[in-house]
Amino acid sequence: MDRTPLVVGNWKMAMSHKAALEAAAALKKAIKTEPPAGEVVVCPSFPSLAAVAELLHNSKKIQVGAQNIHWEERGAWTGEVSVVQIKSFAKWCIIGHSERRQHFNETDGMVVQKMNLLLKHGLLPLVCVGETAAERESGHAIPKVTGQVQQIFSALTLTNMKQIVVAYEPIWAIGTGAPAAPADAAEIMLLIRKIAGEYFGPEGAERLRIIYGGSVEADTAGAFAAEPGIDGLLVGGASTRPLQLAEIVAAVCS
Ligand code: PEP
Repeated sequence: MDRTPLVVGNWKMAMSHKAALEAAAALKKAIKTEPPAGEVVVCPSFPSLAAVAELLHNSKKIQVGAQNIHWEERGAWTGEVSVVQIKSFAKWCIIGHSERRQHFNETDGMVVQKMNLLLKHGLLPLVCVGETAAERESGHAIPKVTGQVQQIFSALTLTNMKQIVVAYEPIWAIGTGAPAAPADAAEIMLLIRKIAGEYFGPEGAERLRIIYGGSVEADTAGAFAAEPGIDGLLVGGASTRPLQLAEIVAAVCS
């Protein structure tokens, strides 16, 4: 089964509002083919979400995602953002990013709650999983990732599993300039697909898109895209440079 390649740019807290609009406009120009032979998503921070979505309205090249939502639909949660508030602007949403898990104590349970809310409101969850350096060094990468994806898959039906994308992001590779070896990442992704098969059968497993994230740059993107089973990339730092992101898109979506 052919899976559509996907490149997602996570802009984190990197840009001013003006810079986010400029980056979106520059990316639109820099992605050459229309539409690219794949999907491209940019995830600005909340203050720029509506304006970037407006700028990219009708773009066949680039979709818009949010970086997070709260696990509740509504309520007294000062400073938080609900799925209901983003759904007019975003098609996608990153959940379970390691920075949320690590610095905001987000649990697998919260990630599942967020995933269910996104699915309920018709948004596409991009669910991040991955192990720490210590877990990797102590031989616990496989049990850690297995546990994370089992919690996600057990909350899904055969129908709504088609809406999600899993991003394997080894935490030790995020923002370090030292990506995983593509073959090693592909091995963990094969494991994720095998576990998906236990929940959704061979057809469901074949259909699931699994992407890699962690210190990918334009010059390393092609090696990841060339690995069978790696369906795309989640890109942080390099995605804030539109020309660099466009090169990554060219490497993945060609
Ligand atoms: C990320 O934060 O999801 C990420 C992949 O970041 P970077 O590309 O900067 O490692």
